[in-house]
Amino acid sequence: MTIGIWILGDRLNKLQSSLTTYQYQKNKTPVILIESLNYAKQRPYHQQKLVLIWSAMRHFAAELKTDGWSVSYEIAEDFITALQQWIRKNQITELVITKPCDRPSYNYIQNLDLDCQINFIPDNHFLWSQEEFSNWAKSRKGLLMEDFYREGRKKFNILMEENRPVGGQWNYDKQNRKPPNKNLSPPKRLWFEPDAITQEVIEWIKSQHLSKYGAIESFNWGVTREQAQQILDHFITECLPNFGTYQDAMITGEYTMWHSLISPYLNIGLLHPMEVIKAVETAYYKHDLPINSVEGFIRQVLGWREYMHGIYQYVDADYLNYNWFEHNRPLPQFFWDGNTTDMNCLKQSLTQVEKTGYAHHIQRLMVLSNFALIAGINPQEIENWFHSAFIDAYDWVMQTNVLGMGQFADGGILASKPYAASANYINKMSDYCSNCKYNKSDRLTDKACPFNYFYWDFISRHRDKLKSLSRMNLILGNLKRIPEAELKQMNLLAEQWWENGTSNH
Ligand SMILES: Cc1cc2nc3c(=O)[nH]c(=O)nc-3n(C[C@H](O)[C@H](O)[C@H](O)COP(=O)(O)OP(=O)(O)OC[C@H]3O[C@@H](n4cnc5c(N)ncnc54)[C@H](O)[C@@H]3O)c2cc1C
Ligand code: SF4
Repeated sequence: MTIGIWILGDRLNKLQSSLTTYQYQKNKTPVILIESLNYAKQRPYHQQKLVLIWSAMRHFAAELKTDGWSVSYEIAEDFITALQQWIRKNQITELVITKPCDRPSYNYIQNLDLDCQINFIPDNHFLWSQEEFSNWAKSRKGLLMEDFYREGRKKFNILMEENRPVGGQWNYDKQNRKPPNKNLSPPKRLWFEPDAITQEVIEWIKSQHLSKYGAIESFNWGVTREQAQQILDHFITECLPNFGTYQDAMITGEYTMWHSLISPYLNIGLLHPMEVIKAVETAYYKHDLPINSVEGFIRQVLGWREYMHGIYQYVDADYLNYNWFEHNRPLPQFFWDGNTTDMNCLKQSLTQVEKTGYAHHIQRLMVLSNFALIAGINPQEIENWFHSAFIDAYDWVMQTNVLGMGQFADGGILASKPYAASANYINKMSDYCSNCKYNKSDRLTDKACPFNYFYWDFISRHRDKLKSLSRMNLILGNLKRIPEAELKQMNLLAEQWWENGTSNH
């Protein structure tokens, strides 16, 4: 029997399960990595995402070779042709793959018609296995993230003193919502000049005309485990102490604030979630860092990330098609070219994504996704856009974040109320409104901020559905106090916005 290992582009870690299983016989176990052009053509991916994955794969293949593995690296039209040739050449009888966490990849591989057996080895890149999450979920009435997170703190003994949370509280989020003030100056970040391999990938992608979306020349992300570790270390020393306090704040031109920028690396395996959590916990004890920042950050990785992955595995495959509000407006063209909108918050966030493939959580949730929700854009269209545009996007993290959290398309499996907001929130948490052609305080004239009339149009259109959500009672009470004529005017402005053609906004 000859075993062969296929390494997918999102599991670039020597400690991933299929490699560790056959480590003992590495010199007689062929390994393959494949760049498939057809796969890259599936969506108009941000060009920097293609650079990141393919450059990281090429670097990883070189590292495995140095370690003594027998590695084949193929650049092919599709996976199947490259796989078949390699299987024949090496007389492979069993193809081993770490089980993909994305459903489409798993289904695709399962249905491949190959001349050998396929064996999936359980993925060890999340902290909770599918079975463990499912046992937790089945034992409960609701699937609150906060409950899951506390369970995770106990299960992995993170920030715990015996059975109690360090500092006496589980969650310090109340201290983590400070608006930006004028003198804030976020730290400089660690970026990397593309090396020869990355340059080669950039030229290759340009020559193949795979996607027109996103700047490619300004690629400065890390592409190796060592660089990813440096980024984590830099985050811990320079940003972690203030991470919590300004977690939700947005400032023009400050793309990264105090955020970690590690999602691209976690999601392709260059970093493991437990090493990130442990490094932050160790720094907390060693340097006596503020608990609101440390707990707030650990909650993102141990709580939100694991929870989103667990829910994705737990729900039906049909989750992808959910559309609770029955929203069917098309995605405005300006999402692909941020400079063509006059709404400054959208322009700033969209042009930033074009330049880097990155925006932080509140830009994603409360600017980009919020707009799609209140304007009534089809959830699958906005999901498709996020999946294409972001450097860290994968099916497992898209569906729960965009459809569940962002669009409330699942009717509340994941969130207890829709994340919908008017200009009030954006103005409080950013400096965007002060440079905008629209008036943040107006909701009734042609100068009115579209977030204001879309917000009340959304709440009024869906008031019957929203009544079933207890956390919406206050807002629905406020809706009742809006004079009928004002509400009609907002409904009209929302309708006119669409009639005027989205390219004019
Ligand atoms: C509409 C929308 C789209 C999103 N798209 C993606 C995506 O494509 N890929 C992605 O990894 N995350 C996504 N997120 C979650 C989150 O916004 C990003 O993980 C985070 O902004 C990445 O930047 P960072 O590494 O600087 O994060 P930090 O703010 O520094 O947080 C640390 C880490 O926590 C994890 N994390 C925090 N929140 C989440 C979450 N809700 N889901 C999963 N992991 C989380 C990430 O791994 C992140 O790197 C999305 C959220 C929303 C609301
Ligand atoms: S006024 Fe409205 S459109 Fe302009 S930046 Fe503020 S929220 Fe965005």
